[in-house]
Amino acid sequence: MNLEFHGAVGGVTGSHMVLDAGGMRVGIDAGLFQGNEASRNQADFGHDPRSIRVLILTHAHIDHSGRVPLLIKKGFSGKIISTAATADLCEIMLRDSAHLMMEAAEHESHQSDQRRRPLAGPLYEEKDVAAAMRHFTPIRYNKEHDLGRFSIRFMDAGHILGSAMIELSFGKKRLVFSGDLGRPGAPFLRDPEKVDAADWLVLESTYGDMDHGNIADRGKILLNIILETLERGGNVVIPAFAIGRTQEILYELNPYAEKGVLSGVSCFVDSPMAISATEIYARHPECFDEETLSLLRSGDSPLEFPGIQYTRSQDESKAIYDHRGPRIIISASGMCTGGRVLHHLIKNLEQKDSTILFVGYQADGTIGRRLLDGARKIRILDKDLDVKAQITSMDAFSAHAGRKEILSWLRSFRQFPDKVFLNHGEPRATRALAEAIRTEFDSEVTIPEMGQKYLLS
Ligand SMILES: [Zn+2]
Ligand SMILES: [Zn+2]
Repeated sequence: MNLEFHGAVGGVTGSHMVLDAGGMRVGIDAGLFQGNEASRNQADFGHDPRSIRVLILTHAHIDHSGRVPLLIKKGFSGKIISTAATADLCEIMLRDSAHLMMEAAEHESHQSDQRRRPLAGPLYEEKDVAAAMRHFTPIRYNKEHDLGRFSIRFMDAGHILGSAMIELSFGKKRLVFSGDLGRPGAPFLRDPEKVDAADWLVLESTYGDMDHGNIADRGKILLNIILETLERGGNVVIPAFAIGRTQEILYELNPYAEKGVLSGVSCFVDSPMAISATEIYARHPECFDEETLSLLRSGDSPLEFPGIQYTRSQDESKAIYDHRGPRIIISASGMCTGGRVLHHLIKNLEQKDSTILFVGYQADGTIGRRLLDGARKIRILDKDLDVKAQITSMDAFSAHAGRKEILSWLRSFRQFPDKVFLNHGEPRATRALAEAIRTEFDSEVTIPEMGQKYLLS
């Protein structure tokens, strides 16, 4: 049995692996490369997609699902196994992704008229997304399904709605993929499930070298940043992933808004995808933890409060600035790689009273990372801007387990895996986690390389 790594190697984007189980080839995730690695999307998959029998998705984030329609265009014709919530979220994520690619291609064709460069074109279009959706075959958490050479079971990864760890059983041997590992105590979601035993583990390492701020304190910290900015007369712009992060911010603001602390403040959720995601949340209570279920039973929806305005259309989005009074604007994309948030950056970056608050991971090469790294000038949608706004970040909203949380999750194994593969991390983070695992657990740790095959036996 061989495991091949075709993405999220030496970086966090483009997750894609292929397991060759005695000739049956199974894909695990098929994510987009982003930031510095984005050009890799134009290359081939590193294997023949026609040979893949089944594709299993850990979750809907675009760096795990964004190349699914491309995989199908290149000949994959099998089932896509995911949770039901992941399937629903993928539909909106992939449509949005197709839309952003069309926009980028149009922009590029406009530029290349002037510079005569060859065009890359979109990787796929909406019709390819519609075709991809027909391959989805949802399964439930913690139910074992026989796939012939092995059986599959999903466990809750606690990372975003519908996120799963994958356990594949071959007789007595078990291979576990952590997918993106969530954090205990996150709102809406159950804590990442403990895994009892595995022979091989593929583990993400995004935060293998650092810890995050406390989940319990983050509502207060968020509120303080907002109140300080509004007092100065600025706006708060929060670039946030439409799925997960946006809902968690609302969840934290909800109690303050309900108590009147934010009275007179408009909170715009300016992302059609975030609105659709919020509707999908409502459809999947099977993914919620006890706390959220009891909040809902008490009649309080964490995603609705006084002052909240969901803006779906372009016109509503533009009208945000006609609006008088203090504003919080939550908009995607989270790493400022596209989407409406770019317009809010253009409006606010040159305002010294405004705050741009980052709440998620900013991959190398993205506008978000450059702002966080202190860029004083930045070019967005052909506009050159002087950065005068306050740029700040909160790591407590991370949807990924921090170093201590990963290690504590690993300690719950009764039978620790003989072999651990660490992917989905920038080299420094991955190496630090590898060191920690080698020191504490008696296990062989491998940091896989792009396109390499590793023998499991
Ligand atoms: Zn993720
Ligand atoms: Zn990821």
